[in-house]
Amino acid sequence: MEKKRQFFTTPIYYVNAKPHLGHAYTSIAADVATRYKQMDNQETYFLTGTDEHGDKIVQAADDQNTSPKAYADQISQLFQDLLPLLQIKNDQFIRTTDPDHIGVVTAILTKIHDSGDIYFASYEGLYCFGCERFYQERELVEGKCPDHGVAPEKIKESNYFFKMSKYQEWLIDHINTHENFIQPAQYKNEILSFLKEPLEDLCISRPKTRLTWGITLPFDPDYVTYVWFDALVNYVSALGYPDGDKFKRFWPTTRHFVAKDIIKPHGIYWPIMLKAAGLDIYEGLNVHGFWNVKGSKMSKSIGNVTDPIEVTKEFGVDPFRYFLMREMVFGLDANFTEDAIVSRINADLANDLGNLFSRILSMNTRYFEGKIMGQDAALAAQFSLEANAINAIDGFKEAMERCQFHKGLASIWAFISTMNKYIDTNEPWSLAKDPSKESALGTVLYNLVEGVRVVSCLIYPVMPATSRKMQLALGLEIPAKGFFDLDQILPWAQIKKGVSLDKPEILFPRIDIKERASNASPQKAVVKKKKSFKPALKEEISIEDFSKIDLRAATILSAEKIETSSKLLKLVVDIGAQTRQVIAGIGKSYTPQDLVGKQVIVVANLKEARIMGELSQGMVLAASHKKELILSGFEKDLLPGNPVK
Ligand SMILES: [Zn+2]
Repeated sequence: MEKKRQFFTTPIYYVNAKPHLGHAYTSIAADVATRYKQMDNQETYFLTGTDEHGDKIVQAADDQNTSPKAYADQISQLFQDLLPLLQIKNDQFIRTTDPDHIGVVTAILTKIHDSGDIYFASYEGLYCFGCERFYQERELVEGKCPDHGVAPEKIKESNYFFKMSKYQEWLIDHINTHENFIQPAQYKNEILSFLKEPLEDLCISRPKTRLTWGITLPFDPDYVTYVWFDALVNYVSALGYPDGDKFKRFWPTTRHFVAKDIIKPHGIYWPIMLKAAGLDIYEGLNVHGFWNVKGSKMSKSIGNVTDPIEVTKEFGVDPFRYFLMREMVFGLDANFTEDAIVSRINADLANDLGNLFSRILSMNTRYFEGKIMGQDAALAAQFSLEANAINAIDGFKEAMERCQFHKGLASIWAFISTMNKYIDTNEPWSLAKDPSKESALGTVLYNLVEGVRVVSCLIYPVMPATSRKMQLALGLEIPAKGFFDLDQILPWAQIKKGVSLDKPEILFPRIDIKERASNASPQKAVVKKKKSFKPALKEEISIEDFSKIDLRAATILSAEKIETSSKLLKLVVDIGAQTRQVIAGIGKSYTPQDLVGKQVIVVANLKEARIMGELSQGMVLAASHKKELILSGFEKDLLPGNPVK
């Protein structure tokens, strides 16, 4: 039988700013959905990319004194670099400046124009320059653009229009007869309610007098294509429409992941464009909400735009992916705070899953020297966790089919919690005290090991690295593709009797909340680089040159002022093999009492010198800071004479 196929996409991200948390979420959600379908033995294709034309890109490039293409190259690269850091396995990355894409946009425009669905007309309307689109009166909020809060300008232009109105009834009917076309249901209702009003035709051109950074219309060289009409076509141009093999394989079994702010282009323009061009309509849209950060929508002016790379560096990729998928109810808004991610990591990951896993393997090591005892047939039914595992798998599958990632994970965690209770109820430590209960103990541990095997398979789409780590610790032979299919998870009792397992490493270290509170937020430490000192660097030297300098840890044994100078101190220092007298100009920054017992770094092989008549046999290292000298030292006490390299 031919495999089922599924094509997943993220929106192509607009390159007017670098990637933030919201982009990371959409991409991870699409990656999780793709990995899940692969576990369901389907053939998948996963596309992401960047949208690079339009006014805003020209402006952003101008601000940086560069060309639109150079600017787009730079930001697009940031989006590409982010993918491996988030463990996202896309099959393709498309850019709307790719020549192939431009060719397909041109072909589709020609097709729709030839069929008579594009016409030329003069139009006067309210235009928001921020949104790059005309608004209808009724879409405005108190006369202002709902996104930008500014009143749109009245402008008059001759432009090309796409007859969307002609397809309005068809689209309403299509949505009503295809249950999963727009998920979750609140967004389907939003689109249907919008379609109750007459649909206006879409202006799909921009005169080159106003904008040149775009794809030239094939039927009028004085105009470029409206950026949305260009961008949406990426979903088929990437597959090699019209003759490409990928197009034949994967279109239209397509689910587009989008955030709620772009459902109109995806839920209205795009299906109508496809219909008008004679293409099949995609299978569906999966619409998610926004991530608010500390209670507000992310915005540059509030300064709460969250960089996914920083979060990943701090908490790890798998915990970050888990948090995003577990915390957000797909379709609704969610709140991102450090407290929320820390508490998910500590409670769900370190405590519930991590502890369970290490407890089970540790007990198996303690009671059976790591050897799997297998279950006693007579006791198997009494101690079985199989029914709970089946429930977890069913609940997971049902939720994942509908992109309810949070529910899918909740189903796994309900099973984890059952296993934790099972340990408390069956008290393996008590069974271990009674030699006649050895087979009961073996059976209990066997069921637990089987339970975490099931968990290790189910968490794969969300936490691929942790899944692998657990499976290696359980001695499983991981299939070459890197995961077990859904239909390989059962039957129960796959781990072989007699296998030896090691004590596991810790899956998720707990995050110490107090320690975090006492440190400044590392995110800020990275972002807010302090003013720095920028004198020109000295000429480079070789390692051989450097190694000629004999630097030593030295302990100051005594210190006294030199009466004839306001800043010189006479120090006696212990450098291990010898004591030395060193004259140091640190008298304005330190009193002699400050110094006795302190450890410093001394240049031990500096030629002797006389300073103000006093012998100086070395030099103490210090940095000058606002008219003070700050001595160098060590984080720990060392033995005097310890070399410094
Ligand atoms: Zn606007």
